[in-house]
Amino acid sequence: MEKKQFQAESKRLLEMMINSIYTQREIFLRELISNSSDAIDKIYYKALTDDSLVFDKDSYFIKVIADKTNRTLTIRDTGIGMTKEDLENNLGIIAKSGSLAFKKENEAKDGHNIIGQFGVGFYSAFMVADVVTVTSKALGSDTAYKWESTGADGYTIETAEKDSVGTEIVLQIKANTEDDNYDEYLDEYRLKAIIKKYSDFIRYPIKMDVAGK
Ligand code: ADP
Ligand code: MG
Repeated sequence: MEKKQFQAESKRLLEMMINSIYTQREIFLRELISNSSDAIDKIYYKALTDDSLVFDKDSYFIKVIADKTNRTLTIRDTGIGMTKEDLENNLGIIAKSGSLAFKKENEAKDGHNIIGQFGVGFYSAFMVADVVTVTSKALGSDTAYKWESTGADGYTIETAEKDSVGTEIVLQIKANTEDDNYDEYLDEYRLKAIIKKYSDFIRYPIKMDVAGK
């Protein structure tokens, strides 16, 4: 399997994320849920003009699954999904949001709070995870793909099994260190509180499932 490198800009943002000492690590969940919501929006808008597509409200939701035994946190959506090219183009490089430029500009003014105020996007997952695995099947596509990265040293893409259209992001949650506790991102009440704090306005249901001790 081929290992691809992130672009230089992406690499820098990743390093910032991975070595982050920010207290607002919890915003990774806001970022992933908002991406899921955007992905469902895309199907919703498509259905408005495409008669072959029906937007059945009950079929569209976001699911957050914590597995304490395996130390994984999964964010699954029934959104529009990503093709292989989408995975490469959207997750392999910095999104057009220009968050890095924004950060640089404002670093001097307020180094610590920017990250919480600004959409830092998908890469924020690396603040809490050692490995991020994205399995996705795009609307209209027969093949699903798995994108995986441990952060700085690039990513891999391979074909995968996935029955339904949408995206599943599995975070291998970091082990606790002397200074940092990551267990909280597997705790049902903590996760619920984070979702309430940042994602209360999301217009699709956010379901939750917690397994293991
Ligand atoms: P932004 O949301 O500002 O574009 P992100 O870094 O959060 O930046 O996401 C980058 C891109 O990756 C998104 O624009 C989208 O195209 C794609 N993406 C991320 N998560 C998902 C998802 N759950 N479903 C479909 N596409 C996604
Ligand atoms: Mg985003």
